[in-house]
Amino acid sequence: MVPDSSHYWLKNAQVPLALLSQGARAIAPPPNLESLVLLDVEIQSGWITQVVPAAAVETGPIPFVDLQHRQIWPCFVDMHTHLDKGHIWQRSPNPDGTFQSAIATVQQDIETYWDSADLYQRMEFGLKCSYVHGTKALRTHLDSPERIGELNWDVFKTLQEEWGDRLMLQAVSLVTLDYYLTPAGEKLADRVAELGGVLGGVAYMNPNLDSQLEHLLQLAQDRGLALDLHTDETGDPDSKTLHQVAQKAIQAQFPHQITCGHCCSLALQSPEFVHETLALVKEAGIGIVSLPTCNLYLQDRQLVQNSKSDPKLDPRPDSQKPSLQPYSRTPRWRGITLIHELRNCEIPVAIASDNCRDPFYSFGDHDGLETFIMAVRIAHLDQPYGDWPELITQVPAQLMGLHGVGQIGAQVPADLIIFEGRSFSELLSRPCASRTVIRDGSMVTGSLPSYTELDNLRD
Ligand SMILES: [Zn+2]
Repeated sequence: MVPDSSHYWLKNAQVPLALLSQGARAIAPPPNLESLVLLDVEIQSGWITQVVPAAAVETGPIPFVDLQHRQIWPCFVDMHTHLDKGHIWQRSPNPDGTFQSAIATVQQDIETYWDSADLYQRMEFGLKCSYVHGTKALRTHLDSPERIGELNWDVFKTLQEEWGDRLMLQAVSLVTLDYYLTPAGEKLADRVAELGGVLGGVAYMNPNLDSQLEHLLQLAQDRGLALDLHTDETGDPDSKTLHQVAQKAIQAQFPHQITCGHCCSLALQSPEFVHETLALVKEAGIGIVSLPTCNLYLQDRQLVQNSKSDPKLDPRPDSQKPSLQPYSRTPRWRGITLIHELRNCEIPVAIASDNCRDPFYSFGDHDGLETFIMAVRIAHLDQPYGDWPELITQVPAQLMGLHGVGQIGAQVPADLIIFEGRSFSELLSRPCASRTVIRDGSMVTGSLPSYTELDNLRD
């Protein structure tokens, strides 16, 4: 697919306009109806050196490949994952698919299995998948209460060094927010600062949430840390932690980036309250990460204890209804936050792959394309496609503070994905179609790791 040379051209490539750098956008030809522009891209010694309208430049004897309108994207930026929980489904499946069971099952798995070797093997497997699929930068949350926190951050640090030439890795501490009120919480904040991480946690509605947030913001501010929180991962409209995070951040005049993940209940709150929350989120400069696959899996999953609890929906006579057997009810809600409304308010929104083959999500492979496809289908990001490809590239790169990542333009590293698909319909209809990942100008030739690599995990 790519010439075996350090200097070559990719000709007749279609690139989403939104994924071009400012400079490249300025000289791009008019986009088509899907906001794709037809370009030639010059690559030299691992860098993109020119991006020009197709056929605008005479390229002489330099090797080239004619992409015949195939799309090229910058490599993915996957900013919300849980590498430490990944790939435990086989030994710790979620018994009923609910959020509560996911929490309990993971806790049991931690107590039974987690040690350095187990964490290293599963986290590395996740990184291999991510890299081969075309990800360049990835952020993971790491469960961080005392013993597990020590282990988890040690293993992450090792992998961060080993993978430094292939993946830009960031980690976020994950504990409940009350933890930061304890001496162990202060110690964790120090460790996160020492290791160059991001401070984070899960915000639950509780009477002390305000003081927990005030303390957390102070800890982060004192150490110059960004924040990345799990907020409102629930269908309960009374869960309003995003609102409170935004309020507290404004009060504290918090100077660093805050990211809030999930924000599911926002979609179920009154228009007035949503309006108020979006205004606060915008004022606080908070970025939102939506996790469409995980939300689709966990949200609105309700087990009905027996058919008599909702007799109107079962036309059969009582005697024929299955009684006292829990059964799944059909979900009515896709589970995602207000992606369109957030964007309309010019609040940065990203999407990410989140959990991978663990009790929070039984599937997944840290594939940015799959995440984008699912987001398009679940959230209707297709009328038009417009700028939506930014959600798994440029926007998360900005929220992660990665300058020049997630875009195509002159003087940025040649980290690209060439897809078989030309139009969006072609691209999004065959998620399994081959793609060519280019890193620093050269093709990534490795393949996805075999599941048999995980056969020796303890179970
Ligand atoms: Zn998460």
